[in-house]
Amino acid sequence: MAVSALTLDRLCIHQVTLMQCDFRASIECFSRHGVRRTAVWRDKLDEFGLSEAVRILKDQGVSVDALCPGGLMTAESPTDFREAIDRNRIWLDLAAELGAQSMVTITGGLPDGHTDLSAARQRALKGLAELVPHARAVGVKLALEPLHPMVCGVRSVISTIGDAMEMLDELDADDIAGLAIDSYAVWWDRNLQAELARAGSRILHFHASDWLPDTEDLRFDRGMPGDGMINNPQIRGWMEQIGFHGPVEVEIFSHKNWWKQAPDDVVLKILERMERSL
Ligand code: ZN
Repeated sequence: MAVSALTLDRLCIHQVTLMQCDFRASIECFSRHGVRRTAVWRDKLDEFGLSEAVRILKDQGVSVDALCPGGLMTAESPTDFREAIDRNRIWLDLAAELGAQSMVTITGGLPDGHTDLSAARQRALKGLAELVPHARAVGVKLALEPLHPMVCGVRSVISTIGDAMEMLDELDADDIAGLAIDSYAVWWDRNLQAELARAGSRILHFHASDWLPDTEDLRFDRGMPGDGMINNPQIRGWMEQIGFHGPVEVEIFSHKNWWKQAPDDVVLKILERMERSL
């Protein structure tokens, strides 16, 4: 089924897509091209500090859909685990100050030298449960994002929408926890349409990029929508059928291509791809 063209008011570009820019330059670049939404990347925020960042966003008329990435709560040592929870509380505070709806939350992978996936998943669930009261207190949602199974060991011990929903079932906090769906992570799933329908109103975010057929790096070689093998408009259509009408968030990690381009060219290319590839 054909989907309607994406409109500019629904386009969000994650700040990490312009890794070549500092915090200010990326926000100014989005604003210059009429892109009014972003997801703030923590490392970029650290460069400028919160109050300066808030001022830049306000001056440029750019709003924040999410802070990325939070979570990373699979440490085995109790001290490290506790520190991870404390860090996440601070990140939730930052997200609230930025006016973000959510903190995109990835579980983290296996700690160095460990092979017990099940235990790592249990710790991630425990971490999420510990964050729920603080997330509620500051009004920022925990948007749990499953990642592609190829990065299971290093970034996320949950890989499918089904895995994420099981975790949300156990968490039992749908008022404050939901899902971030990233097409790069889930496009290959034969049951994707049905899984999205099953997730329904739990879906808080839709991230889009493309899977390059000759990808060389599982994390940092994402393609521009339209350059690879993912049918992003179809996935967006499936999400709209179940009532998702939130932003479409372009999130491209690309150290060999897009992070080397002039930022204006990257944003112009995304705008060009809105019509047919998002
Ligand atoms: Zn993502």
